[in-house]
Amino acid sequence: MQALNADEIRRSFVNSSKSQVKAVTMPAGLTELPWESLDFLGWRDAKAPARAYLVVPREDGVLGIALNTSATGKPRRGTGLCDLCHTAHKVIDVALFAARRAGSAGRAGNTVGTYICADLACSLYLRGLREPEVPQGETVGSEVRIERLGHRLESFVSRVLA
Ligand SMILES: [Zn+2]
Repeated sequence: MQALNADEIRRSFVNSSKSQVKAVTMPAGLTELPWESLDFLGWRDAKAPARAYLVVPREDGVLGIALNTSATGKPRRGTGLCDLCHTAHKVIDVALFAARRAGSAGRAGNTVGTYICADLACSLYLRGLREPEVPQGETVGSEVRIERLGHRLESFVSRVLA
């Protein structure tokens, strides 16, 4: 995706109030991110770790979604799968994120939930730039996986907008 500045990111949010957008902590080193290797920008809020954000490039510009994840409860065992990139992780490295839906549905308290890599680094896992800690069962190549990530991301975005 193309590099974004803080203003462009703040303007992109579709499911947040003005004060929530103001409170967003930008990712560290925004100008040095590996933008060309990112399908979307995803990060945890350094000042509020239960908050996370996705900024997704689309045909008509970028679209930002604020997410919430509850603090991890008692330790769980086993592995889990990211709903977006299908990378397998130790269960603690996948988190259930909830996005408030855009518009009146969101104001009425409706959310959309999905499991995502806890560090929101799907793009890096698919390109071999970050290694998951558990063996992967996936046999298809990274290009196909990147394309599928795009479709799943778009379907998540449309659920938030619907
Ligand atoms: Zn992922």
